[in-house]
Amino acid sequence: MKILVINCGSSSLKYQLFDMDTNEVLAKGLCERIGIEGSNLQHTAAGKDKVTFTQPMPTHNEAIQLVMDTLVSPEHGVIKSVDEIGGVGHRVVHGGDKFASSVIVDDSVKDAIRSIFDLAPLHNPPNLMGIEACEKIMPGTPNVVVFDTAFHQTMPAEAYMYALPYEYYEKYGVRRYGFHGTSHKYVTQRAIAMLGGKAEGTKIITCHLGNGSSIAAVKDGKVIDTTMGLTPLAGFEMGTRCGDIDPAIVPFLMKKENLSPDEIDNVMNKKSGLLGVSGRSSDFRDAEEAADNGDERCKLALDMFRYQIAKFIGAYYVALGGCDAIVFTAGIGENNSGHRAAICEYCKCLGVEIDPELNAQRGKEIDFATKDSKIRALLIPTNEELMIAQDTKELLEK
Ligand code: AMP
Repeated sequence: MKILVINCGSSSLKYQLFDMDTNEVLAKGLCERIGIEGSNLQHTAAGKDKVTFTQPMPTHNEAIQLVMDTLVSPEHGVIKSVDEIGGVGHRVVHGGDKFASSVIVDDSVKDAIRSIFDLAPLHNPPNLMGIEACEKIMPGTPNVVVFDTAFHQTMPAEAYMYALPYEYYEKYGVRRYGFHGTSHKYVTQRAIAMLGGKAEGTKIITCHLGNGSSIAAVKDGKVIDTTMGLTPLAGFEMGTRCGDIDPAIVPFLMKKENLSPDEIDNVMNKKSGLLGVSGRSSDFRDAEEAADNGDERCKLALDMFRYQIAKFIGAYYVALGGCDAIVFTAGIGENNSGHRAAICEYCKCLGVEIDPELNAQRGKEIDFATKDSKIRALLIPTNEELMIAQDTKELLEK
């Protein structure tokens, strides 16, 4: 079976076509500037050079049509007919508390996604546009949605409730949801396989460390707590997001700086985190280079990042009642051995011992703990697209 995976933004559309017999990516690409002048498609078929087509794409319908035409084109394509695609898997950021797993799209699923637009105003509307474009351009091909929040739906109420008046939970759904669920699920499955294959009895802390970051505590293969909250702003320092702060800072700064709700939201989401503290960059590689050259604020921002992560690992060790493995994934988790080593150094008191030579490797799954370490330290490259394709295949085969 071939599965197309789609991730739609308001003016972009990323895709990967998988052959599910081999888990191989046959082609992938990106439509940019949808609805804006200069729309283009960048497409790469496996083993071939990237090609770029510039043509008008006023809506996501034209973008999907161009992707389909390219996938079947004699020159750049990888399939003979669109009928070869058994299903489309869509990434949807917010499923609220309505979805604990992936689902096949029907009218009630689309209505449910629409009903929680206000929980993810930047993401859910374009995600739904992608689904509706596929329904229009590929009628008869089933669509599946895979939610970023779904894997976290196993959290108990004591972990997902905020200590606010209960009516806000009832009226507006104000609670912790958690994000990056597809990545946490993928690395959890891989970690369980590396630990012996049985989910029952496992206690795993998964650290997705990228431009956006989150940590999850996973018991018996199920999430019991996670750092992101009602929105992906919560948790610890990220590229441009502040993570958890004293909530009283929000009205304090709004008054001092005369900021509107949207302006303070923008400060916390776009101007904080590594960028805000360092005053230099939101990219961890840039900050590291500057810190190595003596930039004190970059050094401080990086120290804060490691410290805050270690604090959550400590909290989740207690929440889980122990820990078998700490998993590192995403851009920073997979590539930055210095951060992994520093975080593991904090966790020495829990029994984590790492092998620096193993930790220096990257690009593949590695257990970089020493033989005697009480807790395994695992580097697992994430693969959210493959996870979406697998969920889609499983649901369609049921
Ligand atoms: P992501 O959001 O998962 O793409 O991660 C982006 C972050 O990962 C950026 O802050 C990058 O600096 C960092 N990153 C990506 N690749 C590398 C690399 N090869 N070495 C160190 N950091 C990296």
